[in-house]
Amino acid sequence: MTTIATTNPATGQVEKTFDAAAEEEIDRRLALAAETFATYRNTGVEQRAAWMNAAADVLDREAGEIGALLTTEMGKPRTAAEAEVRKCAKACRFYAEHAAGFLAEHRPADPADVGARDAYVRYEPLGPVLAVMPWNFPLWQVIRFAAPALMAGNVGLLKHSSNVPQTALLLEDLFRRAGFPEGAFQTLLIGSAEVERVLRDPRVKAATLTGSEPAGRSVAAIAGDEIKPTVLELGGSDPFVVMPSADVPAAARTAADSRCLNNGQSCISAKRFIVHEDCADEFEELFVEAMRAKRVGDPMDDGTDVGPLVSEDGRADVEELVADAVGKGARVLCGGERPDRPGWYYPPTVVTDVTTEMRMFHEEVFGPVASLFRVRDIDAAIELANATGFGLGSNAWTRDDAERDRFVRELEAGQVFINGMTTSYPRLPFGGVKRSGYGRELSAEGMLEFCNAKTIWAA
Ligand code: NDP
Repeated sequence: MTTIATTNPATGQVEKTFDAAAEEEIDRRLALAAETFATYRNTGVEQRAAWMNAAADVLDREAGEIGALLTTEMGKPRTAAEAEVRKCAKACRFYAEHAAGFLAEHRPADPADVGARDAYVRYEPLGPVLAVMPWNFPLWQVIRFAAPALMAGNVGLLKHSSNVPQTALLLEDLFRRAGFPEGAFQTLLIGSAEVERVLRDPRVKAATLTGSEPAGRSVAAIAGDEIKPTVLELGGSDPFVVMPSADVPAAARTAADSRCLNNGQSCISAKRFIVHEDCADEFEELFVEAMRAKRVGDPMDDGTDVGPLVSEDGRADVEELVADAVGKGARVLCGGERPDRPGWYYPPTVVTDVTTEMRMFHEEVFGPVASLFRVRDIDAAIELANATGFGLGSNAWTRDDAERDRFVRELEAGQVFINGMTTSYPRLPFGGVKRSGYGRELSAEGMLEFCNAKTIWAA
């Protein structure tokens, strides 16, 4: 039986526990979702946009308070949490403004060419969509699904991580306060064992999951069995390549920021640093210095860069990966020892001499731990960057056009960022290839994932 509770990662104290929804309650909510969809799908985009803008207003108005809740539940620095809330408000406004354009009927063919008087495509919502979401960006991951899905006329059912129940309930409340009909967005307080029953329910038409590979595999298998569409955004072990032509000091600063983002627990953090041997000494020195300079501390303090990891298990996983690498010959250049204090802290750490025998080479390290590699040339850099099962984001630093073109074409990833930190923007599609998942979130692509592109042909 899953425990649904807020446990403060900075202290290890359980602050609030919740009862999981009983069978009848789950059923009542599924019925409400289906019933609401029947009428909600016919609301106009303008009306939905007004509600979505109202949700953005609430987020902007209460960003400080909501940010503090995120910090209490999962440990990210309060300033970063508040920035996450504001980013969510922006995404709501973006979809409020652009949904009508993304959903507009269009005519890809001249009707005469297909023997019709009229032929066009219209986008219709699918129905209740189940969103299985993680704790690391507990508001953003949900909003980037909910804003486009609701604007398209779908209704949402959220199964959030069991360690962020207050954020999960806040999200349901947010959409209700913004004016959306009761049932347009509901939170199901359930453990992961209940996901199968919800996903197989005929009232649920599709699913999206952000999280680990095992969770993604399970949801995709069940949805496949039920022939329901899914979007999966799974882990990443993003490469960060630095060439001698790059602005090496800027690359080193960004490298440390990227690796420590969200206390090192972001799917698109750079995790593997692949540096050309001609600039490797300079990069290593500046990178280690920047990692050492990060202030580890209470995430509620304004000066903190890196707070605690999300859970005791999360920290144990990171420690095991570092111990495995060191046991097989890797060297720790900084960090590597947990501080002697309450809470699940782990310092920014750089590990070098990482080889293919080490787990760290193949697995996602969900904490502020960087692996550093030296390579001979760009061929070796690209080969190493692609030598992973993951394919989410990627980062390359170069001021040479020919090199840039090779990274753009040859890196196996859902996004390639050149000379800047990998991040997500409402206007740009976001997602992965290989074992990082499939489908896209954000932009028009993210909205159309949960639409029926209905072709109309009329003689
Ligand atoms: P999980 O993938 O276990 O959790 C993410 C969500 O999936 C939660 O809502 C969880 O519910 C649910 N879930 C878990 N297992 C299943 C299942 N079999 N069927 C349906 N739903 C499921 O991530 P963790 O929080 O346990 O983190 C483990 C690792 O996953 C991390 O160390 C990291 O490597 C990766 N991860 C990657 C993320 C990313 O953004 N790419 C985000 C989070 C994790 P519940 O909480 O109730 O178990």
